[in-house]
Amino acid sequence: MRSAETEGSAIGTEPLPEVIAEAAKVLYLRALKVLPPDVKVALAHAHARETSPRAREILATMLKNIEVAEAHGLLVCQDTGIPVFKVRVGRRFPFDGPALLAALTRGVQQATVEHPLRSSVCHPITRENPQTNTGLRIPVVDFEFLEGGDWLELRMMPKGSGAENQSFLKMLTPADGLGGVKRFILESVLEAGGKPCPPIVVGVGLGGTADLAMKLAKEAIWRPIGEPNDDPDLAKLEAELLEAINATGLGPMGLGGDTTALAVHVEAAYTHITQNPVAVTLQCWRGERASARIHPDGRVEHGD
Ligand code: SF4
Repeated sequence: MRSAETEGSAIGTEPLPEVIAEAAKVLYLRALKVLPPDVKVALAHAHARETSPRAREILATMLKNIEVAEAHGLLVCQDTGIPVFKVRVGRRFPFDGPALLAALTRGVQQATVEHPLRSSVCHPITRENPQTNTGLRIPVVDFEFLEGGDWLELRMMPKGSGAENQSFLKMLTPADGLGGVKRFILESVLEAGGKPCPPIVVGVGLGGTADLAMKLAKEAIWRPIGEPNDDPDLAKLEAELLEAINATGLGPMGLGGDTTALAVHVEAAYTHITQNPVAVTLQCWRGERASARIHPDGRVEHGD
C-alpha cells in the first residue's frame, strides 16, 4: 500500500462513514482511469512476446490507450461497469455494517454525479436508470472478516458488461473428473470469443455450491497477475489452463494471436461428494481494480 490520505480528509476530523464514502468515490474513479501495475506489466510483456503483427498492433493500441487515459485523467474505456466492492474487515476495526453499506453507495453516487460518469445501472425489467450507478442491491458488496488487523480494506472493481456477460456455470459431477473441468473452462473461453475484450484474466471457482463457485470465480480475478495459487495443485491447473487457452490462437480482441489470456486464477472450496461445480468469469484487458486501507483514525492508504 502506498501511503496517502484521501483528498480533503485530515486525520481524525471526519467521521469514518464520510472517510469511507470519499474513499469509495476515489477508488471508483481511479479504477476506471488507472490500471493496476501488474496488468500494465502483463500487457507490455504480451506485446513484447506476441508474434502476430495484427495482435501486436492491438496490444500497442491498448498500451497507448492506458498512457493517454492516465496522462489526461480520462476513462480507459467508456463502460463504467457495475460497481463491485470487496470489503475485508480486520477484527479490531470499529465496524458498523449498515453505515458502511450506505457510505459505499454514497461514494458511488458522488463519483457518478460529480465526475460525471455514465450510469450503467438500471432496473432489470423496466430498465429505469436512476443515473447514479446504484439501485436495489447495487453496488455489489462482498465481505471477508479477518482474524487480525484494526483496519478495513476496500477493494473496488467496476465490472464491464462485455466481460461480465461472459460468465459460465456448470454443475459437473465427480465422474467428469479434472478433464471435464478443464474442458468446460476451455469451452467457456472459446464461446466467449472476442466479446469480453481479450486478453482476459480468467477467474475460475471450483467446488462449493453453485453460488459459492461463482463467488470464488469473482474472488479469483481480484488476485494480481503473477501470483499463482498457494496450493500447488491449483497453481499447476492455472498454468496448464493458461497454456491451453493461449494455444487456441483466439488472440487480442478475438482477432487472432498468441495472447488470449494474461492469467488464469482458480479459487476452490470443498464440495458435495456427488457434485463438482465449476464457475468461470472473465476480466477484460482493462483489468480494472483499485484498493485502499482505512484506519480507525481516518487515515487512508491507497494500494493497487
Ligand atoms: S469488456 Fe470491453 S467494452 Fe467492456 S469495460 Fe472491458 S474493455 Fe470496455
